[in-house]
Amino acid sequence: MKTNNFRKHAHELVDWVADYMENVRDYPVRSQCEPGDIAAQIEDEAPQQAENFETIFEDFKSIIMPGITHWQHPRFFAYFPSNSTPESQLAEMLISAVGVNGMLWETSPAATELEEKMMQWLGQLIAIPKDWSGVIQDTASSATFCALLCAREKATDDRSNTQGLYSEKKLKYYVTHEAHSSIEKAMKMAGLGSSNIHFVATRRDHSMDHIALETAIERDLAAGHIPAGIIACIGATGMGAIDPLRRIGEIAKAHDIYLHVDAAWAGSAMVCPEFHAFMDGIDLADSYVFNPHKWMGIQFDCSAHFVKDKDRLIQTLTILPEYLKSNEGVTDYRDWGIQLGRRMRALKVWFVLRGQGVDAIQERIRNHILWTEKLAALVSDHPDFEIVTEPRFSLFTFKHKDGCEKTDALLQAVNDAGYTYLTRSVINKKSVIRWSIGQTDCQWQDVADSWSHLLDLR
Ligand SMILES: *Cc1c(COP(=O)(O)O)cnc(C)c1O
Repeated sequence: MKTNNFRKHAHELVDWVADYMENVRDYPVRSQCEPGDIAAQIEDEAPQQAENFETIFEDFKSIIMPGITHWQHPRFFAYFPSNSTPESQLAEMLISAVGVNGMLWETSPAATELEEKMMQWLGQLIAIPKDWSGVIQDTASSATFCALLCAREKATDDRSNTQGLYSEKKLKYYVTHEAHSSIEKAMKMAGLGSSNIHFVATRRDHSMDHIALETAIERDLAAGHIPAGIIACIGATGMGAIDPLRRIGEIAKAHDIYLHVDAAWAGSAMVCPEFHAFMDGIDLADSYVFNPHKWMGIQFDCSAHFVKDKDRLIQTLTILPEYLKSNEGVTDYRDWGIQLGRRMRALKVWFVLRGQGVDAIQERIRNHILWTEKLAALVSDHPDFEIVTEPRFSLFTFKHKDGCEKTDALLQAVNDAGYTYLTRSVINKKSVIRWSIGQTDCQWQDVADSWSHLLDLR
C-alpha cells in the first residue's frame, strides 16, 4: 500500500473507530453468532492477487463485526473487564507505527527506559515497596508462570534449571481453590505437576486459612517434600476472595518459601489509597502481579509484574547467546520473561496516566465499587434473589431463590438477549451469577437498566 492510500484509509478507520466508541451501546454485548458462522464466510485459501482495501474493510464490517463480543460495551458485566480508553488506543497506534521489538535496551532505549519509569509510577500508585523492580508482561498468566519458576529455582538452589527435576524431592505449591487456573497451567508447564498443588482450606469468606497453610507446610516437610511456593490472591476470579497477605507472608518468611501475589484484577483498585490496607504484608512477598489491562483503562495486553529481587528473576530466565550480548549497565528486559521479543507496552501506560491523570482513574474505580454496592442492595432487597457473596471491590454474586436451574436459565436468557452480559460461576456447589462492574464508560444508568432488564426476563 502506498503512503497516500495509507493516509486515506487510516483517516477512514479513525472515523469508524470514533463512531464505534460513540455507538457501542447499539450492539448486542455478547456476539450472537453460532459456532462456524464466521469461518464459513472466510475463504479457505489466501488470495494470490492483492485485493483493495475497501473490499477488505467492508468484509471486516459485515463478516467480523457480528462475531465480536463488545468488551468496551458499557453493559459488559461478564468475567472481569478488559477495558480500553481513547488515550490507550492512541498509544497503540503509535506502538504499531514504530513497530518496535524491545527485547534489548539497544533495540529501542526508549522502550526499556519508559517501561522502567512506568513500573515505578505504577508501583508507587499501588504501594509496592520502593526498592522493588518491575516489568510489563503480556498477561498475569506469564507473570505467575515466571513466579513459579523463580520459586522452583530458589527451592532447588538453581539446580532444576540445569539438571531438571529428575532427582529432586517433590516441590509443593500452596493456593486455595479460589486461585486462578493459570497456576495449575503453570505447574504443568514448569514440569512441577498439577498434583503437587496443595489446596489449602479456606475460611468462611473463601480466603486462605493461614493456620491450615502452616499445617500443610509442616505435613509436607515431615513427608520429605519441599514447600517451594505460595500464591496468595487479592481479589480471586470466582468471587473476589482476598487472602490475608501479612499472615501468609509471615509463614512464607519463617519457612523461606517464595511468595507470589496474584492481584490481576483487584490490583487496579489499589490506586485508591483507601485500599492500601489490602497491600499490608507486601514487604514479606517476593512478587506481585496486576493487570492494568483489566481495570485501569490501559488496554490488553498490559500486565504489571513486580519483583522484590530482580536477580532471582533474571538468574532464573537468562540465556546469553553471542548474538544477544549487548551493553553493560542497562536493563535488557528479554531476561525478565518468557519471550525474547516484546511489545512496547509502556507507551500506553504513559499516555493513559498522563492523559487521564490519577484522579480520574481513582474516581472511575470508586464509582464502580459504589455502584456495585448499590446494585447488591437492590438484589438483596428483591424477594426472588439472594446474595451469595457480598461485594468485593466491584464484584458480587447472587442466585435465584428457586435454585440452580432457575439461575442458569435466567443467565442464559440474559446473555442470549444481548442487552447485557454476565458470567456464571459455582460457589459451594451452587450456580451463581457473577456481576462485575468495570467498563470505562459504564454509568449507573447502564447498571440500573441492566438490572431491570434481567428482572423482565425472570
Ligand atoms: C484475569 C486473572 C488472571 C489471568 O489473567 P491473564 O492476564 O489473562 O493471564 C489471573 N489471576 C486472576 C486473579 C485474574 O483475575
